[in-house]
Formats: sequence, structure tokens, C-alpha cells
Amino acid sequence: MSDSIVFSDLSLPPSILKTLKNLGYEIPTPIQKESIPLLMNGRDLIGQAQTGTGKTAAFALPILSRLDVSQKSPQILVLTPTRELAIQVSEAFQAYARHLKGFHVLPVYGGQSYTIQLNGLKRGVHVVVGTPGRILDHLRRETLKIDELRTVVLDEADEMLNMGFIEDVEKIISGAPKTCQIAMFSATMPGPVRRIAKLYLKSPSEIKIESKTTTVESVEQRYLLLNNNQKLEALTRLLEVENYDGVLVFVRTKSATAEISEKLEARGFAAAALNGDMSQMLRERTVNHLKKRKLDIVVATDVAARGLDVDRLSLVINYDIPHDVEPYIHRIGRTGRAGREGKAILLVTPREKRLLRDIERATKQKIEPTQLPSSQEIGRKRAELFKERVLQTFANQPLHFFTEHLKELKKDLNMSLEELAPALLFLAQKDQSLQVEKSISELKYAQKEESQESREKLSGKAKSLRKRKLPGNVKFDCYRVEVGKRHKARVGDIVGAIANEADIESQFIGNIRLYDDYSTVELPEGMPKEIFHLLKKTHIRQRKLNLRLLAEA
Ligand code: AMP
Repeated sequence: MSDSIVFSDLSLPPSILKTLKNLGYEIPTPIQKESIPLLMNGRDLIGQAQTGTGKTAAFALPILSRLDVSQKSPQILVLTPTRELAIQVSEAFQAYARHLKGFHVLPVYGGQSYTIQLNGLKRGVHVVVGTPGRILDHLRRETLKIDELRTVVLDEADEMLNMGFIEDVEKIISGAPKTCQIAMFSATMPGPVRRIAKLYLKSPSEIKIESKTTTVESVEQRYLLLNNNQKLEALTRLLEVENYDGVLVFVRTKSATAEISEKLEARGFAAAALNGDMSQMLRERTVNHLKKRKLDIVVATDVAARGLDVDRLSLVINYDIPHDVEPYIHRIGRTGRAGREGKAILLVTPREKRLLRDIERATKQKIEPTQLPSSQEIGRKRAELFKERVLQTFANQPLHFFTEHLKELKKDLNMSLEELAPALLFLAQKDQSLQVEKSISELKYAQKEESQESREKLSGKAKSLRKRKLPGNVKFDCYRVEVGKRHKARVGDIVGAIANEADIESQFIGNIRLYDDYSTVELPEGMPKEIFHLLKKTHIRQRKLNLRLLAEA
């Protein structure tokens, strides 16, 4: 399909188009372009896509377009491997259904109290999004009825297999009406996932978004692994320590261009937004200000930055990873122009790492990991800049008046220069403090794991013992958690809860052993205190984990 396709070409109803406009989505992503028309036509679908490609909207938008709000029994069931994803998908449905009066979506996952879920189910919901174990529990208790389902979505099917959920998934879909439309999304298609597709999907269309390979030269590329809530701080820290002339920051939506540029301005940066909602005149003015150094930073969407040609751009920051390789190449091509050196930094959340690997594969270039600039680095940089300002003032500014004033001050206050200077220095640095406070985001458990490159997959078969070949360079500590077989805990519950709460990717969770009253789990060594406390308080099967370190594994 051609690149010029817009949302209104995809037969979506006007109300949904309006919502998308409000959300600031400019163009459909490749997976959306392909899957929306198919799902609108009621076709079954296998979509090879991962987080970050826009796959949630790829199924949620056509589903919502076909939804019957007057039917109060569940019409749509989305199965996800983790509770985090269940919540995320529910939130996406809620956001896309803003125009649908009386619409209800309910996330249903292990670890949450049944009462909340039962109340939700009793009230009547159109879409249920849940993890397989808990959905199966509700089916057994007959608190969830799926005999009127119209569509089932299997999200991240390969992850459900990795987490040992595939049998549950099969039980659930075999209980759904035979006429049900089924859409399966999976980043990879291992045998058991393919088998399910073959057994339950009716002549499915298969979509695989292949990226053309292209090389990018003269741009040094790095990436920073972090969580979503650390992005703004990471951006400001990078903007403080990196050497650059002009900067382009890329975000996914028009609303984010305004939000981020305002936040940067509030932090003292010369930043502005560039998006398709701005008039041509305003856009041109912004680009001119960037050229003339009235601005240093422009925060843009892909569409708005198309064709932007400003020589002084020496740094591109991908605040949001692009949905595809093509826009990435276009983005970083805005720098390193006119034979100059360019740098590109990509902010990646743990869930988006596969997209990063896709970009590396398609560009045939390795993107090197980088660290969040530390408080010391920022402190050093600020001290350097301050020194420079002092030297420049000394060189360029007539200081006679101030020398005289200082003499008077010394006399009036009866203080020596040594005593006076620190107070004056304090006043002089008030706008940008020389002291940098350490922040919570310097506790980067997620980044720590990044040095471990192994992507070995787990066996989906082991039920009570999660056995894995451990990657050679990962060191684990062994922890005890106060939930075991007697409480009907399963390996998947433990993996899911820990993966979500601590933001640890499932492949970095080591062996898990289930005993009657408790279980043991191996987690990468050096867990920050914050995460330890978080996991201590986490619940599985309504039991507090009370995580305790046993020994080095
Ligand atoms: P997903 O791959 O579904 O996890 O989506 C990744 C992110 O992209 C989410 O934050 C979505 O809100 C956002 N997104 C999805 N589709 C679009 C689009 N067409 N334009 C801009 N952002 C989008």
C-alpha cells in the first residue's frame, strides 16, 4: 500500500476519526494500514508485529467501529500475557472509545481482587482484556460468559507461550463461539503458536511488515533503555550534557510536540513545537528561528519534519521510538547534513526492544547502548559552563563598577573576599544550580539488565518449575516469595507480576520453583531498594509476596 494513506481512507466511522484527530495521530502505522481494512471486513488475521508498531490501535479501532453498544454481554475478549499489557490495552480501548457513550472495557488479571472484577462483569462490559489464567478462573466460576463473543484477540501470542499460558489460551478459544473472528498478534511465530492459528483461525490473512534495509552513514547512533516515566528527565539530562548545535526531538503525536516543548521551555531551554496543526506560516517561522539560533531545540512529529533541512542540526533525539524503520532513517537523516557529524539518540522502553533490534537489522548497523547522564556528569558540565561564563565576563565586560562595589561590600559587611565569594557565587548560579540533586531515575534496574544480550527463550511446558538455560553473563540472586502451590500460584503469575512491577523483561527472570507454601525465584543481582520494596508489597493470588533474599543463585 502506498505511503499516502491516511486514517480516513480506512473506512473508519467519523466519530473514530475525530478521536484520532484529538489524540494527535497523523497517519496510520504500517500494521494499521494493513490490518484495519481486513478486521473491518470480519476477516481472521495473523499479524506479525510487536509493541511500538501501533498494533493495539490496529485491532482496537476496527473492533470499536463494529461494536454494538446495546449488547451488554462481552463481545470482545483480548488475551494478553501480562497484567501490565492488559491494563495498557484496556486504557487504549478507553481512549479510542471516547466517542462511544456507555462503552465499558474491563481489565481482568491475576493478583487483583475478584470483587472489583466481579462488579465490573456484573455491570456489563463490551470488551474484556485479561491474562489467560484469570480469564479461565472466571470461566470456571461462570462469572464470565463468552457465548456471545464476536471477536477474540490474542495479543503477544508468543509471549503467552513463553510464559506457559498457551494451554489456557487454547482452552479459552475452544470455548468461544465457532463463528468468532480471531485476530492473533505475535512478534515471532514459533510452532505451538502456528498450531493454534492453524486449528482455530478461519483462512486468516497474514500480515508481516517487512522493513527494507537501508544504511545510514555519518550518524553516530546510541540508545538509552528506560521506563516511560523517566523519559522527560532523560531528555533534559541529555540536553544538558551532550554537545550539540541544534536539536530535533521526535515524538509520536502532535499533542506531545506541544507538551514536551513547553516542558523544555519551562526548564530554560530555547525550544518550540513543530506539528501539522500549526499554520504554514508558523511552521516556517519556527524553522527560521532554528536556523537563526533564536531556538536550539525543535520538538516535531515525523510528518511535520518531513524534508526539514537545517545545517546546524547536529543531534536527533527519538523521544518515542518510531513505529517502523523508514521514519527512523528519515529522522536521523535530518542530522549529519552537509558533511557534518551527526548524533542520534533513541529512547527505548524495555517492551520496545524488539523494535530496536528490527531497526538495527534493517539498517545493518549496531546502535550502541548509552547511559542516562549521572548527576556528577551534569554537575561537571554545569561547572564547566560556569567557568566559561566567568572567563567571558572577565574578557568582555567592563568590571570597574563592580570592583568598587565589592570593596564597599567588604567594608560594610566586615567580611573578607573568601567569606563573601561563596554567597556571591550562590546568587550568581541561582538560575541554574551548580548543585545537582540525585533523582530516582538514577536507579536504573532496567538499564543494568541491558548488558545481558541473550534472548534465549523459555520453555513453555514446565508448569511448576521454570527451568531455563541461563545466559552465561547474567548473575542472579535467589529470592523467596510467600505464595506457593497451595495458593494455586502458577509460574506465569509470578513471572507476570514481577515483569510488570519491576519492569524486568521475562527473559531476565531466572528459575522459579513452586513449593507448597512458598516459591523461589531468581532475579538479576543488585536489585535497587525501591524495586525490592515494590515487590515486597506486590500481591499474587491475593497474597503479599513479602520478597526475601535467600542467597546468590
Ligand atoms: P502499540 O504498538 O500498540 O503499543 O503502540 C505504541 C504507541 O504508539 C502507543 O503509545 C500509541 O498511542 C501510539 N500510536 C499508535 N498508533 C499511532 C499513530 N498512527 N500515530 C501516532 N501514534 C500512534
